[in-house]
Amino acid sequence: MSRWKNSQESLFGTMLNQSYPRSSRTEDMVRTRLDDIYDGYIEGLRDRNDSLRYAGNRGLFHASSSGSCLRKIYYDSVEQVEPTEKDADTLRLFRLGDIVHKDIQEAVSQYAQSSGSKVLIETEVIIPEYNVRGFLDLAILEDKWLYDIKTCNSYKWKRMFGRTPDKDPHGNYTLQLGTYGIWVEKVFGRLEGLSLYYYNKNTSQTKEVSFNRSIITDAGLYWQEASDRLKSGIPDVKLGIAPVQGWECNPKYCSFFAHCGGGIKPELLEKQ
Ligand code: SF4
Repeated sequence: MSRWKNSQESLFGTMLNQSYPRSSRTEDMVRTRLDDIYDGYIEGLRDRNDSLRYAGNRGLFHASSSGSCLRKIYYDSVEQVEPTEKDADTLRLFRLGDIVHKDIQEAVSQYAQSSGSKVLIETEVIIPEYNVRGFLDLAILEDKWLYDIKTCNSYKWKRMFGRTPDKDPHGNYTLQLGTYGIWVEKVFGRLEGLSLYYYNKNTSQTKEVSFNRSIITDAGLYWQEASDRLKSGIPDVKLGIAPVQGWECNPKYCSFFAHCGGGIKPELLEKQ
Protein backbone atom coordinates (compact mmCIF):
# COMPACT_ATOMS: atom_id res chain seq x y z
CA MET A 1 0.00 0.00 0.00
CA SER A 2 1.38 3.38 -0.98
CA ARG A 3 2.28 6.04 1.53
CA TRP A 4 -0.09 8.37 -0.36
CA LYS A 5 -3.09 6.11 0.20
CA ASN A 6 -2.23 5.66 3.87
CA SER A 7 -1.98 9.37 4.41
CA GLN A 8 -5.29 10.01 2.58
CA GLU A 9 -7.06 7.39 4.66
CA SER A 10 -5.75 8.79 7.90
CA LEU A 11 -6.70 12.35 6.84
CA PHE A 12 -10.18 11.16 5.87
CA GLY A 13 -10.58 9.37 9.18
CA THR A 14 -9.49 12.47 11.06
CA MET A 15 -12.01 14.62 9.15
CA LEU A 16 -14.83 12.24 9.89
CA ASN A 17 -14.08 12.07 13.59
CA GLN A 18 -13.32 15.70 14.11
CA SER A 19 -15.87 17.97 15.71
CA TYR A 20 -15.36 21.44 14.27
CA PRO A 21 -15.70 24.47 16.51
CA ARG A 22 -18.94 26.37 15.83
CA SER A 23 -18.94 30.04 14.97
CA SER A 24 -19.25 32.39 17.91
CA ARG A 25 -22.51 34.09 18.83
CA THR A 26 -20.99 37.47 18.00
CA GLU A 27 -20.01 36.28 14.51
CA ASP A 28 -23.53 34.97 13.98
CA MET A 29 -24.99 38.32 14.99
CA VAL A 30 -22.71 40.38 12.75
CA ARG A 31 -22.89 38.46 9.47
CA THR A 32 -25.80 38.59 7.01
CA ARG A 33 -28.29 35.80 7.57
CA LEU A 34 -29.32 33.74 4.53
CA ASP A 35 -32.79 33.45 6.05
CA ASP A 36 -33.18 37.23 5.88
CA ILE A 37 -32.03 37.33 2.26
CA TYR A 38 -34.28 34.47 1.15
CA ASP A 39 -37.33 35.56 3.14
CA GLY A 40 -36.96 39.12 1.81
CA TYR A 41 -36.75 37.73 -1.73
CA ILE A 42 -39.94 35.68 -1.25
CA GLU A 43 -41.78 38.66 0.27
CA GLY A 44 -40.75 40.77 -2.74
CA LEU A 45 -42.08 38.11 -5.15
CA ARG A 46 -45.30 37.88 -3.15
CA ASP A 47 -45.81 41.67 -3.20
CA ARG A 48 -45.15 41.85 -6.94
CA ASN A 49 -47.52 38.98 -7.61
CA ASP A 50 -50.24 40.53 -5.40
CA SER A 51 -50.04 43.90 -7.12
CA LEU A 52 -50.03 42.32 -10.60
CA ARG A 53 -52.93 39.99 -9.85
CA TYR A 54 -55.17 41.68 -7.35
CA ALA A 55 -54.76 45.46 -7.64
CA GLY A 56 -58.13 46.84 -8.71
CA ASN A 57 -59.83 43.46 -8.35
CA ARG A 58 -60.31 43.16 -4.59
CA GLY A 59 -64.08 43.24 -4.82
CA LEU A 60 -64.18 39.94 -6.74
CA PHE A 61 -64.38 36.60 -4.92
CA HIS A 62 -61.36 34.31 -5.38
CA ALA A 63 -61.98 31.02 -7.15
CA SER A 64 -59.39 29.52 -4.78
CA SER A 65 -61.70 30.36 -1.84
CA SER A 66 -64.37 27.99 -3.18
CA GLY A 67 -65.92 26.06 -0.32
CA SER A 68 -64.16 27.95 2.46
CA CYS A 69 -65.58 30.02 5.32
CA LEU A 70 -68.08 32.58 3.98
CA ARG A 71 -67.07 35.15 6.59
CA LYS A 72 -63.49 34.89 5.34
CA ILE A 73 -64.69 35.57 1.80
CA TYR A 74 -66.79 38.50 3.08
CA TYR A 75 -63.87 40.12 4.94
CA ASP A 76 -61.58 39.66 1.97
CA SER A 77 -63.77 40.80 -0.93
CA VAL A 78 -66.72 42.75 0.49
CA GLU A 79 -65.26 44.52 3.55
CA GLN A 80 -61.75 44.34 2.05
CA VAL A 81 -60.00 44.01 5.40
CA GLU A 82 -56.19 43.85 5.21
CA PRO A 83 -55.23 40.21 5.91
CA THR A 84 -52.64 39.53 8.64
CA GLU A 85 -49.09 38.79 7.48
CA LYS A 86 -48.18 35.15 6.96
CA ASP A 87 -45.12 33.92 8.88
CA ALA A 88 -41.88 33.16 7.05
CA ASP A 89 -42.32 29.36 7.19
CA THR A 90 -45.74 29.61 5.55
CA LEU A 91 -44.44 31.92 2.81
CA ARG A 92 -41.57 29.48 2.06
CA LEU A 93 -44.11 26.67 1.88
CA PHE A 94 -46.20 28.65 -0.63
CA ARG A 95 -43.07 29.43 -2.62
CA LEU A 96 -42.23 25.73 -2.89
CA GLY A 97 -45.75 25.14 -4.20
CA ASP A 98 -45.28 27.94 -6.76
CA ILE A 99 -42.01 26.44 -7.95
CA VAL A 100 -43.61 23.03 -8.50
CA HIS A 101 -46.53 24.69 -10.34
CA LYS A 102 -44.19 26.63 -12.61
CA ASP A 103 -42.09 23.56 -13.37
CA ILE A 104 -45.08 21.46 -14.42
CA GLN A 105 -46.50 24.39 -16.43
CA GLU A 106 -43.15 24.84 -18.17
CA ALA A 107 -43.13 21.13 -19.06
CA VAL A 108 -46.59 21.46 -20.61
CA SER A 109 -45.56 24.63 -22.43
CA GLN A 110 -42.55 22.86 -23.98
CA TYR A 111 -44.76 19.89 -24.87
CA ALA A 112 -47.22 22.24 -26.59
CA GLN A 113 -44.44 23.91 -28.58
CA SER A 114 -43.05 20.62 -29.82
CA SER A 115 -46.40 18.93 -30.52
CA GLY A 116 -48.37 21.93 -31.75
CA SER A 117 -50.99 21.33 -29.06
CA LYS A 118 -53.19 24.18 -27.94
CA VAL A 119 -52.98 24.67 -24.20
CA LEU A 120 -53.96 27.22 -21.56
CA ILE A 121 -51.41 27.95 -18.86
CA GLU A 122 -51.94 30.23 -15.84
CA THR A 123 -54.92 31.87 -17.51
CA GLU A 124 -57.16 34.49 -15.92
CA VAL A 125 -60.74 33.39 -15.34
CA ILE A 126 -63.57 35.86 -14.64
CA ILE A 127 -67.17 34.77 -14.10
CA PRO A 128 -69.20 38.01 -13.80
CA GLU A 129 -72.52 36.36 -12.88
CA TYR A 130 -70.97 35.03 -9.66
CA ASN A 131 -68.49 37.89 -9.17
CA VAL A 132 -65.65 35.32 -9.19
CA ARG A 133 -62.11 35.60 -10.50
CA GLY A 134 -59.10 33.29 -10.50
CA PHE A 135 -56.26 31.78 -12.51
CA LEU A 136 -56.51 28.29 -13.91
CA ASP A 137 -53.33 26.19 -13.95
CA LEU A 138 -53.58 24.16 -17.15
CA ALA A 139 -55.90 22.99 -19.90
CA ILE A 140 -55.07 20.87 -22.94
CA LEU A 141 -57.68 22.09 -25.38
CA GLU A 142 -57.61 19.32 -27.98
CA ASP A 143 -58.20 16.81 -25.18
CA LYS A 144 -60.92 19.10 -23.75
CA TRP A 145 -59.34 18.53 -20.35
CA LEU A 146 -58.73 20.93 -17.49
CA TYR A 147 -56.17 20.47 -14.69
CA ASP A 148 -55.52 22.04 -11.33
CA ILE A 149 -52.15 21.31 -9.70
CA LYS A 150 -52.11 20.75 -5.94
CA THR A 151 -49.01 20.34 -3.82
CA CYS A 152 -49.45 18.66 -0.44
CA ASN A 153 -47.51 17.00 2.35
CA SER A 154 -47.45 13.30 3.21
CA TYR A 155 -50.06 13.76 5.96
CA LYS A 156 -52.61 15.16 3.52
CA TRP A 157 -51.56 12.55 0.91
CA LYS A 158 -52.31 9.75 3.34
CA ARG A 159 -55.73 11.24 4.09
CA MET A 160 -56.49 11.19 0.38
CA PHE A 161 -54.77 8.02 -0.84
CA GLY A 162 -54.05 6.00 2.30
CA ARG A 163 -55.87 2.85 3.42
CA THR A 164 -58.68 4.74 5.12
CA PRO A 165 -59.11 7.97 3.15
CA ASP A 166 -61.30 10.86 4.29
CA LYS A 167 -64.96 10.79 3.21
CA ASP A 168 -64.61 13.79 0.91
CA PRO A 169 -60.86 14.12 0.43
CA HIS A 170 -60.92 16.50 -2.55
CA GLY A 171 -63.92 18.65 -1.42
CA ASN A 172 -62.96 22.31 -1.88
CA TYR A 173 -60.46 21.45 -4.59
CA THR A 174 -63.20 20.01 -6.80
CA LEU A 175 -65.30 23.17 -6.31
CA GLN A 176 -62.32 25.29 -7.34
CA LEU A 177 -61.62 23.08 -10.37
CA GLY A 178 -65.32 23.14 -11.29
CA THR A 179 -65.27 26.95 -11.05
CA TYR A 180 -62.52 27.15 -13.67
CA GLY A 181 -64.53 24.62 -15.68
CA ILE A 182 -67.50 27.04 -15.82
CA TRP A 183 -65.31 29.60 -17.56
CA VAL A 184 -63.51 27.16 -19.90
CA GLU A 185 -66.81 25.71 -21.12
CA LYS A 186 -68.19 29.20 -21.75
CA VAL A 187 -65.17 30.26 -23.80
CA PHE A 188 -63.97 27.02 -25.44
CA GLY A 189 -66.96 24.67 -25.33
CA ARG A 190 -67.78 21.45 -23.52
CA LEU A 191 -65.02 19.70 -21.52
CA GLU A 192 -64.54 15.93 -21.54
CA GLY A 193 -63.14 15.89 -18.02
CA LEU A 194 -61.26 17.65 -15.26
CA SER A 195 -58.37 16.51 -13.07
CA LEU A 196 -56.59 17.37 -9.87
CA TYR A 197 -52.87 16.67 -10.28
CA TYR A 198 -51.32 16.11 -6.85
CA TYR A 199 -47.63 16.43 -6.01
CA ASN A 200 -46.39 15.16 -2.65
CA LYS A 201 -43.70 17.57 -1.46
CA ASN A 202 -42.25 15.02 0.97
CA THR A 203 -41.81 12.15 -1.48
CA SER A 204 -42.18 13.75 -4.97
CA GLN A 205 -44.91 11.21 -5.78
CA THR A 206 -47.59 12.43 -8.17
CA LYS A 207 -51.16 11.27 -8.69
CA GLU A 208 -53.93 12.41 -11.00
CA VAL A 209 -57.57 12.19 -9.91
CA SER A 210 -60.18 12.72 -12.63
CA PHE A 211 -63.75 13.98 -12.36
CA ASN A 212 -66.68 14.25 -14.70
CA ARG A 213 -68.51 17.46 -15.59
CA SER A 214 -70.86 17.23 -12.61
CA ILE A 215 -68.33 19.21 -10.55
CA ILE A 216 -68.93 22.17 -12.90
CA THR A 217 -72.65 22.10 -12.07
CA ASP A 218 -71.82 21.83 -8.34
CA ALA A 219 -69.47 24.82 -8.57
CA GLY A 220 -72.19 26.91 -10.25
CA LEU A 221 -74.70 26.00 -7.53
CA TYR A 222 -72.14 26.74 -4.83
CA TRP A 223 -71.26 30.20 -6.15
CA GLN A 224 -74.91 31.08 -6.74
CA GLU A 225 -75.71 30.36 -3.10
CA ALA A 226 -72.51 31.94 -1.77
CA SER A 227 -72.96 35.16 -3.74
CA ASP A 228 -76.63 35.40 -2.66
CA ARG A 229 -75.67 34.99 1.01
CA LEU A 230 -72.80 37.48 0.75
CA LYS A 231 -75.10 40.07 -0.84
CA SER A 232 -77.25 40.09 2.29
CA GLY A 233 -74.39 41.10 4.63
CA ILE A 234 -71.87 39.38 6.84
CA PRO A 235 -72.76 35.74 7.54
CA ASP A 236 -73.16 34.75 11.22
CA VAL A 237 -70.54 32.50 12.79
CA LYS A 238 -72.06 29.06 12.29
CA LEU A 239 -70.27 25.78 11.72
CA GLY A 240 -70.98 24.52 8.20
CA ILE A 241 -71.09 28.04 6.70
CA ALA A 242 -68.71 30.27 8.62
CA PRO A 243 -66.51 28.35 9.15
CA VAL A 244 -67.36 25.44 6.86
CA GLN A 245 -64.97 23.22 8.82
CA GLY A 246 -63.81 23.69 12.40
CA TRP A 247 -60.06 23.71 11.58
CA GLU A 248 -60.49 26.92 9.56
CA CYS A 249 -60.86 28.96 12.78
CA ASN A 250 -57.19 29.12 13.54
CA PRO A 251 -54.81 32.09 13.18
CA LYS A 252 -52.55 29.84 11.08
CA TYR A 253 -55.22 29.26 8.46
CA CYS A 254 -57.40 32.36 8.71
CA SER A 255 -55.91 35.77 7.92
CA PHE A 256 -58.93 37.52 9.50
CA PHE A 257 -58.96 35.52 12.73
CA ALA A 258 -58.54 38.47 15.14
CA HIS A 259 -60.84 40.74 13.11
CA CYS A 260 -63.54 38.08 13.24
CA GLY A 261 -63.15 37.51 16.98
CA GLY A 262 -61.84 33.97 16.54
CA GLY A 263 -64.97 32.49 14.95
CA ILE A 264 -65.96 29.31 16.80
CA LYS A 265 -62.66 29.30 18.71
CA PRO A 266 -62.37 32.70 20.42
CA GLU A 267 -60.28 31.07 23.17
CA LEU A 268 -57.37 30.86 20.68
CA LEU A 269 -57.27 34.67 20.54
CA GLU A 270 -55.68 34.79 23.98
CA LYS A 271 -52.86 32.50 22.84
CA GLN A 272 -51.92 34.80 19.94
S1 SF4 B 1 -62.13 33.08 12.39
FE1 SF4 B 1 -63.33 31.35 11.64
S2 SF4 B 1 -65.38 32.15 11.25
FE2 SF4 B 1 -64.01 33.90 11.42
S3 SF4 B 1 -63.40 34.36 9.34
FE3 SF4 B 1 -61.85 33.03 10.18
S4 SF4 B 1 -62.48 30.97 9.62
FE4 SF4 B 1 -64.25 32.28 9.37
